[in-house]
Amino acid sequence: MLEFSAEHQLIQSEVQKLCDNYEDDYWQAKDREAEYPMEFVQELAEHGWLGTIIPEEYGGGGYDTLEAAIVLEEIAASGAGFSGSMACHGAMFVPRSILNYGTEEMKSTYLPKLASGEKLLQCFALTEPDAGYDSTSISTRAERDGDHYVVNGQKTWCSRFYASDYMVLVARTTPREEVSKKTDGMTLFLVDIDDALEQEAVEARKIEKSIRRAVPSYEVWFEDLEVPAENVIGEVGDGFSQVMDGLNEERVVIAAEAVGLARVAIDRAVQYAKEREVFDRQIGANQAIQHPLADAHARMTSARNLTYQAARAFKEGRDVGEAANIAVYMAREAASKAADQAVQTHGGYGVATEYDVERYYREARLSHIAPISDEMIKNYIGEHVLGLPRSY
Ligand SMILES: Cc1cc2nc3c(=O)[nH]c(=O)nc-3n(C[C@H](O)[C@H](O)[C@H](O)COP(=O)(O)OP(=O)(O)OC[C@H]3O[C@@H](n4cnc5c(N)ncnc54)[C@H](O)[C@@H]3O)c2cc1C
Repeated sequence: MLEFSAEHQLIQSEVQKLCDNYEDDYWQAKDREAEYPMEFVQELAEHGWLGTIIPEEYGGGGYDTLEAAIVLEEIAASGAGFSGSMACHGAMFVPRSILNYGTEEMKSTYLPKLASGEKLLQCFALTEPDAGYDSTSISTRAERDGDHYVVNGQKTWCSRFYASDYMVLVARTTPREEVSKKTDGMTLFLVDIDDALEQEAVEARKIEKSIRRAVPSYEVWFEDLEVPAENVIGEVGDGFSQVMDGLNEERVVIAAEAVGLARVAIDRAVQYAKEREVFDRQIGANQAIQHPLADAHARMTSARNLTYQAARAFKEGRDVGEAANIAVYMAREAASKAADQAVQTHGGYGVATEYDVERYYREARLSHIAPISDEMIKNYIGEHVLGLPRSY
C-alpha cells in the first residue's frame, strides 16, 4: 500500500481541514447555479496551495508535481469532486509556462501575485473548433506589428475565462502552410484579459454544459487584439513543444484528481450501504452491493499506486510518458467504475442531487474526454509504448 512521508501526510491533513469548510451543499449550489467557487479558490490561495509549484523565492510553496497531486487528490476526495479540483487546477498549473519559459522579469512580475492569489492565471486557450485534438491545425494568428502582436481568430472550450486575470494563448506566428514541420510556428502569449476586454478586441460566449458547471468554459473570438511583444512566453515559434512539455505533468495531476473522485464515490457508497436497510438487513450485507464496491476499491488503490509512481518519477526527472499516460487511463476508469457503483448503491437516491453521487458520476464521465480523450491516450500507448505504427 502507498505510504506518504510525514510531510506529505501533513499536506493531506491541512488540505482536508480547509476543504471541511466547504460542505456538500456548497458544491451542490455551485453546480446547480453554474457559479465558479471563487471563495474556495481564494481560501486555497490564502493558505498557499495555489502556489504549490511556484518556487519560494517568488512567494510560492516551493514544492513539485507530487505535492500538487496530493493537494488536488484531497480536494476531489473531500466531496468537492472535479468541481473543486478543476476550479483550482488551472491556477496551479497554467503558470507553469511562465515558470519554465518566462524571462526573469516576467517571473518576478507575475509569479508572486499568482502565488498569493492576488491575480489568477488560469485560462489556457489552445483548442479551436476546426482543430479539436489536432492542435497543430490551429489557425488563430498573431502577427508582429512594431512592439506588439495583433491577434485574430477563435478559440473554444477556454475554461475559467471570466474567473481569470490572465490567459495563456497559443497562436500561430507562422501559418501552418509556411512551416516545414507542422509543430513549428506556434507561440505562447500572456494575455491580460481586462486589457483585452477594454480594447473590445475579445468576445467570450459561455458554452452551456451539464457537467462541471461550476467551472465554466467559453468560446472566445479575437479581433485585432494587441498584445505587447514582451508578453511572448519563451521562444517565438516554439510554443507547441513548450505545451507538449507540460503534458505529462498534467496527466499525473489529472490522474490524482480522478483517484480522489473514485475515493469519495466509494466512501459515500460504503457509508450508504451500511446505513440503508431494506428486507430487514443492511444493503451492504448483499454481495451484489459489497463485491462491486470491493472491486472499485481495488481498482482505485491500484490506480493510486500508478499515479504516485509516475509523480515520483517525474520529480526525479525520469521519462514519465508511459507511466503518466497509463496512470491517467487507469485512474479515470477507476473513477467511472466507482461513481457508477455509488449511484447503483444509492438506488433511486443515486440520481437525487442531494446525495452528490450523480454529480461524481457525471464528472467521471467527462474525465474520459477532457483535457485529453481515452482514444488519444491509447494512441500514445500504441505508438510510443507498444511500437505500433502511428495511427493518425
Ligand atoms: C469541459 C471541457 C473543458 C475544456 N477546457 C479546455 C481549456 O481550458 N483549454 C483548451 O484549450 N481546451 C479545453 N478543452 C478542450 C479539450 O481539451 C479537447 O482538446 C477538445 O474537447 C477536443 O476537441 P473536440 O471536442 O473537437 O474533439 P475532436 O478532436 O473532434 O474528437 C472527437 C472524438 O474523436 C476522437 N478522435 C479524434 N481523432 C482521433 C484519432 N486520431 N484517433 C482516435 N480517436 C480520435 C476523439 O478522441 C474524440 O472522441 C476542454 C474541453 C471540455 C469538454
